Amino acid sequence: MKKLILSDNEWKEKLTKEQYRILRKRGTEKPFSGEYHDCHDQGTYVCVACAQPLFTSEYKFDSGTGWPSFWMPISPHAIEIQEDRSLFKRRTEVLCSRCGSHLGHAFADGPPPTNMRYCMNSIALKLLSITAGMVHPPTH
Ligand SMILES: [Zn+2]
Repeated sequence: MKKLILSDNEWKEKLTKEQYRILRKRGTEKPFSGEYHDCHDQGTYVCVACAQPLFTSEYKFDSGTGWPSFWMPISPHAIEIQEDRSLFKRRTEVLCSRCGSHLGHAFADGPPPTNMRYCMNSIALKLLSITAGMVHPPTH
């Protein structure tokens, strides 16, 4: 997919206030507040900002953290990893590789086989559910 590059003002128009705060300002939603932390529907999780497929329900697990957690992205090219040195501790930030939106963080305490935990904000994702036997196209 081609990169999606928008100006700050364009992002403000495209996203809701809360989406903008998290996706473009590296915010974090409150645990257990999002739509997907306890979701077990089958499907593909795409970037809410640019619709690039990021994660799949196959690699989702219950981390108990209150955020949707995955042990692997849908493809290594779907995400970008960056060292985040804010808050005085080193964390690994996860970004959408297409539009650069902040998705969440990755931790090395997940389940096998990868032992990784991709801890995402629900608000950064949109589930294209296949539970009903069909894939719904993104609304934007
Ligand atoms: Zn994106």
